[in-house]
Amino acid sequence: MNAESFAPIPFLDLKAQQARMGPALRARLDAVLAHGQYVLGPEVAELESRLAAFCGARHCVSVSSGTDALQIAMMAEGIGRGDAVFLPAFTYTATAEVPLLLGATPVFVDVDPHSFQIDLASLKARIADVKRAGVLRPRAVIGVDLFGQPADWPGISEIAARDALFTLDDCAQSFGAALDGARLGGAKLGGAPDATATSFFPSKPLGAYGDGGALFTQSDKRAALYRSLRTHGEGTTRYEVLRIGMNGRLDTMQAAVLLAKLDIFEGEMARREAIAQIYDAGLAGFVGVPARVAGGQSAWAVYSVLFTHEAARDTAQAALRAAGIGCAVYYPRALHQQPAYAASHDGVALPVAEGLGRRILALPIHPDLTDAQADRVVAVLRRAGG
Ligand SMILES: *Cc1c(COP(=O)(O)O)cnc(C)c1O
Repeated sequence: MNAESFAPIPFLDLKAQQARMGPALRARLDAVLAHGQYVLGPEVAELESRLAAFCGARHCVSVSSGTDALQIAMMAEGIGRGDAVFLPAFTYTATAEVPLLLGATPVFVDVDPHSFQIDLASLKARIADVKRAGVLRPRAVIGVDLFGQPADWPGISEIAARDALFTLDDCAQSFGAALDGARLGGAKLGGAPDATATSFFPSKPLGAYGDGGALFTQSDKRAALYRSLRTHGEGTTRYEVLRIGMNGRLDTMQAAVLLAKLDIFEGEMARREAIAQIYDAGLAGFVGVPARVAGGQSAWAVYSVLFTHEAARDTAQAALRAAGIGCAVYYPRALHQQPAYAASHDGVALPVAEGLGRRILALPIHPDLTDAQADRVVAVLRRAGG
């Protein structure tokens, strides 16, 4: 073996991606430096129209982060005190943080043990729990497309419709993912629920060089509200303030970075899918590989495998680290087990979400990973034992 076979394998390699983009990125940045419109410059509008077309949504409103996208979407519905917002217990902290910031109550829902997505039977049960208790008003569902895979949006939408719940897709990890034609018109995520929020944090599938996010909706009324809310609740003129809003705009520089990355995005998605297939083929039966959501195309933000018990996971993690291979645990704890959120949980057991953190491990999956590197990850894991 040559020296290269033992070179470290980074979990994410944004420098390699930057080199691959070449002068196209610099040209985009130089254009912003030349016109000097750093806030709501022409690149912002260009990005919004390209992103809307990409995922088949009528409107795209870019914002300052994925978290702010969630917040603006919920502010636009007037969600607040007394409202129950259903969301998976196994997700990033922001999903639960936003309803709490607005005075609403997160109601944690269990997830599927194989795909890690929100569990529809648990969602139904949790809505029934809230109705039975009679304290909170069932108001919204934040479905999360976890790790790049789409959640079961047709299923979530059907359950939500029975109680007229607002459906918000937390697509922060999954921009570019899709559900198949028979179910959603072949659409990329962004077109189906009432609103879709995504993030352009650098490590997400489509990442900026700083914070950024976007909202997608088919509703003209919602899109207009989102534009107002992201600029301090402004009206038709800049100094007319119609509502309490926030400073939630995407910087022009970040829009320029994203435009350059959008040009290579489809190719990157294909590359991530190829890595996922190498992992599937090399690891299925040895560890639990992520179950594909039926009819879904994943954006593969994260490729997580499941071990049968914690010690096996810890051994594998140590072996990968010793071999210089990046890996990570998403998420060590379910959200209702976090000190900040425990007090807002009603105490109902969510056994899948509570157990996953001890057995899960995310492997490197990025577009600059070579087949040989993916093979080496497989080999190191197999040697470590399942
Ligand atoms: C990253 C992430 C967010 C927040 O996005 P930011 O752009 O970092 O604010 C929200 N939800 C989920 C599921 C995420 O992974």
